[in-house]
Amino acid sequence: MNQQELTDKYINIIRKPTAVELLIMDRRKPPELKCPFKFIQARKLPPGAGDREIFEAVTALLADRRFFRYCTMCGELCALAWMANKTMCPDCTKKYFPIRM
Ligand SMILES: [Zn+2]
Repeated sequence: MNQQELTDKYINIIRKPTAVELLIMDRRKPPELKCPFKFIQARKLPPGAGDREIFEAVTALLADRRFFRYCTMCGELCALAWMANKTMCPDCTKKYFPIRM
């Protein structure tokens, strides 16, 4: 996936009058499983932030190991919340460990 695809899939950019918020997709914990995912705020930019600033903030988020990791099997960048065990993406987990899913 390229940066645009990763952004479309995992990052929500919300322009508010008071700030531009960058939200990252996170997985809900079992007690609140009605909807399996939610977005949590990862960065806040000033309200007048332009496309360039937002692009740079997204680039920084994608490089932040607290939020994104590379799958050790296929090499795809994946949101950490969606990885099965911090080293493998869900697709590879299904492929190599079908019983665990
Ligand atoms: Zn993978």
